[in-house]
Amino acid sequence: MSLVVPLDGVLRVTSRFGVGRGSYRHGGIDLARSDGSVYRCPVKAPAAGRIAAVWTVDQPRGGFPYGNAAALLDQDGVVWRFMHFDQPPLLPVGASAAAGQTLGLCDSTGNSTGHHLHLDAAPGGAVDAATFRVAGKRIDPLRLYANSCARAAGYDAQVFQRQITLESGWRPDAVSSAGAEGVAQIIPRWHPAMRGRTFDPFASLAYAADLMAAHLDHRGGNYREALADYNTGRNSHGAFRAQGYRYADAILKGASMASTSELEALRADRDANHKEKMGALTQLGLVIEAANRAGAQAFHGGDWRAVKEAERFFHDPRGARTGAN
Ligand SMILES: [Zn+2]
Repeated sequence: MSLVVPLDGVLRVTSRFGVGRGSYRHGGIDLARSDGSVYRCPVKAPAAGRIAAVWTVDQPRGGFPYGNAAALLDQDGVVWRFMHFDQPPLLPVGASAAAGQTLGLCDSTGNSTGHHLHLDAAPGGAVDAATFRVAGKRIDPLRLYANSCARAAGYDAQVFQRQITLESGWRPDAVSSAGAEGVAQIIPRWHPAMRGRTFDPFASLAYAADLMAAHLDHRGGNYREALADYNTGRNSHGAFRAQGYRYADAILKGASMASTSELEALRADRDANHKEKMGALTQLGLVIEAANRAGAQAFHGGDWRAVKEAERFFHDPRGARTGAN
């Protein structure tokens, strides 16, 4: 069963996992709505489980730092914590929660400077009912959602994780020099369905996983070809396609991909590819415009060379330019 996104609407991460905060690192993600309307938005359980601990502002120091908060132990053994509700959690300790059930409403109680949901996750962890502290390693909750999206799409979760690591390093606010946006580095111009949602990591992960599953299906289950498709496009060939394979091989070889310099080199390649494609689109657009201006009649039995050229350029901009293919 897929994880339920904890808030409705178009979301954004206002503080990501692992950012330094003086003496500690942020152990979760802070979520708000991109239109600023998160106040009193229902917070939903990502999965079925039971309430393992609650915390309220009745505690000393106004419930500092969690405010009104709940911890859920889900059926897969993940401890999730949800903080800064307006009121004490809706369910008491020990109560069962269904996937998607409302646990409380967003506010800014506890150590918080604005309305948001703090969400953190510790797979295999435990929460202390008396202190609300978590024992166990917390990971970026977005990784759990990425797994869930990949599984739902029928795509390998580990490959998907490495892909996201390469694309953005799990930064939901990432913007490439070529205009790719968000955790999955989606270019809104090429993916109209994602316009306005590229910085919503939940929407982006679901979209990218579905897109990869479609590429994989198109390639009969061949991950190398599917990954190259994601990077340079399905019709790429020649030297341009070789770049797609480089991207694919880096992801498929796994653990040794972690070298920062290699990641940077691959991202630079990707950005260059995006820019080449942008150029190709512009050229194709100019041809179409010219065709429109000339009127369809001009093309009946006429000269299609310009269109063919533009198509060729689109599929292999470098090859077409140098005549190398
Ligand atoms: Zn937080």
